[in-house]
Amino acid sequence: MPDPDHSLPSSPVPDALRLRIDRAALGDNWRLLNDLSGAATAGAAVKADAYGVGAEVAVQALRDAGTQQFFVAHWREVPSLLQHVPASAIAVLHGPANSTQAEFARTIGARPVINSLHQARLWHAAGGGACALMIDTGMNRLGLEPALVTDPAITALKPGLVLSHLASADEDVAQTPAQLALFRAASAEFPDARRSLANSAGIALGSDYAFDLTRPGLALYGGTPRAELAGRIRQVAFPQVEVLQIRRLSAGDKVGYNATYAAPHALTAATVALGYADGFLRSRGPGGALSCNGLALPIIGRVSMDMVVVDCSAADDLREGDWLDVPFDLPQVSAASGLTQYELLTTLGRRFTRC
Ligand SMILES: *Cc1c(COP(=O)(O)O)cnc(C)c1O
Repeated sequence: MPDPDHSLPSSPVPDALRLRIDRAALGDNWRLLNDLSGAATAGAAVKADAYGVGAEVAVQALRDAGTQQFFVAHWREVPSLLQHVPASAIAVLHGPANSTQAEFARTIGARPVINSLHQARLWHAAGGGACALMIDTGMNRLGLEPALVTDPAITALKPGLVLSHLASADEDVAQTPAQLALFRAASAEFPDARRSLANSAGIALGSDYAFDLTRPGLALYGGTPRAELAGRIRQVAFPQVEVLQIRRLSAGDKVGYNATYAAPHALTAATVALGYADGFLRSRGPGGALSCNGLALPIIGRVSMDMVVVDCSAADDLREGDWLDVPFDLPQVSAASGLTQYELLTTLGRRFTRC
């Protein structure tokens, strides 16, 4: 019998880390990308828990904005989406790797993206049905070789959607138009299928790349992969962290593991509940800052697993239990930390309460 004095409270303990998701901004980003897709429609990549933002929240906001096609990478990512969108609206990019996954796809109704002859055969053996086909146009990562599009196992798939993925759309290189030409030629084999090539960066390349469906991910969540999108994408994720302790340091006092920082003069320091286990990697420490009502509070010492210390001398009314903002303007933080905008999003830890 549980001790009645020690039963779990009905509401969870308030957390010291929260991630505010601006659903209106997410909807606006989708509408912008959908407009920029011209005659094509924008779908949404919601793999990896919607890039760390939280797949369920993101899918609802995107669905309400008008998104009708969702992409995940793994079969495991499908079930939690099913209470919000129909299975037929979900495509699984990794495709069926074995017969269990092919049968799961048949049972659940999500669409497999077929990437190889092996996957095509697995899909036929499981009974087949609606599917998509990924053609590799030079990335050499995942997808069917263009020479195999006429193989009977492939043509018999009758894919409803044919796609390929751009390797370098965030830069201006000859590889991108070469992929476009290859995709045009290979996808012509499937005149009844819808076609899809562009990710977020590809959308910024204009109507040649849009085809019928675009597949933005990063830019939905506040990332800016190309200059054309700068200033037009809204920030979606706003992390905040609670102050655990405030202390006075004297000149010469050391801070954190390995004492990499020594106070140059007396100052006030705040310890906050954010560390590399939360995705605040050590490369965001030196030169980085948290912020309090827009005031930058420099990080001092090493980032620990669960904590970081800031010089809060500039915020003299800061108290233990107050909240600080974690800067998350993705292009800016990426440039300062050397982490990609993708890494910044997808490493957001599980300890954030997403609200
Ligand atoms: C992740 C992914 C996308 C989205 O790419 P972004 O660069 O985040 O816009 C689109 N298509 C495929 C196949 C992907 O794997």
